[in-house]
Amino acid sequence: AVPLVVAVSTELTARNGLLIRDRAAFERARSLQAVVFDKTGTLTEGRFGVASVVPLGAGMDEVEVLRLAAGLEAFSEHPIAQGILRGADERGIALPAATDFRNLPGEGARATIDGRTVEVVSPGTLRRRGIDVTDGRVAAEHLAGRTVVFVVVDGTVVGAVALADVVRPESREAVRQLQALGLRCMMLTGDAKPVAEQVGRELGLDEVRAEVLPHQKAEAVQAIQAKGLTVAMVGDGVNDAPALAQSDLGIAIGAGTDVAAEAADIVLVRNDPRDVVAILALARATYAKMA
Ligand code: ADP
Ligand code: MG
Repeated sequence: AVPLVVAVSTELTARNGLLIRDRAAFERARSLQAVVFDKTGTLTEGRFGVASVVPLGAGMDEVEVLRLAAGLEAFSEHPIAQGILRGADERGIALPAATDFRNLPGEGARATIDGRTVEVVSPGTLRRRGIDVTDGRVAAEHLAGRTVVFVVVDGTVVGAVALADVVRPESREAVRQLQALGLRCMMLTGDAKPVAEQVGRELGLDEVRAEVLPHQKAEAVQAIQAKGLTVAMVGDGVNDAPALAQSDLGIAIGAGTDVAAEAADIVLVRNDPRDVVAILALARATYAKMA
């Protein structure tokens, strides 16, 4: 026979747009104390547009910088990749052929184009390589809260692409409701600090951390657990999978990657962070009915 709890929660979840992969984790939603969100594609739409292209003194113009970046990103499913492809398409740029594509999770991507190694990477990745880019236009894009990625050819930085994303209007409501229920809301992102801080202010988050690599996202979740708190992780990307697996309740956003969905305990059908609040309410209602 189907246990009562399964029957009740399956009916509730089908109606509410959730797929529960781990029932014990769903039950833990009743006692959550903190929620950790990914930024890109989770709290934000993840629908980037190219705001500007800045060549960085390697003899390439804007079109060439964007052409190389787009040739590489044609193989990536990252939201930034989709934005760069859209930017190239809008400018009528034909894509060059790329081979040997490789994802650098939380950092960027790499491929071979015209016999050269082309990479698109985060500011943090450049810094870790000991490369320092000082350019007024790039600094201005950072200050404006844009996501900046660098295009690197055979180890030389040839340009930067600044992209703009928007915070989901539903995110503000989700954070407000979770905080009203007494939960601590935090954001972890692989993006740069100015972007993270702007989103944090906009949403009233309790804490934000920037330039966090995938394994560091999992470590941050573990550190919260070490304080004795029950924590949920909400994410959409390949980079979120370790943290989704580490958390007490891993929640994957609807339009996210398969890797995230497989690491999660619950998969949302929609892309609405308010569904996290719905999970809490559902878990409480489901298990209250059994008592
Ligand atoms: P988030 O944690 O906000 O979802 P990610 O961890 O996926 O972000 O990515 C972190 C950073 O790595 C991005 O802000 C970007 O700078 C860089 N990055 C990752 N993947 C790509 C890619 N395919 N193209 C360009 N940049 C990328
Ligand atoms: Mg993401």
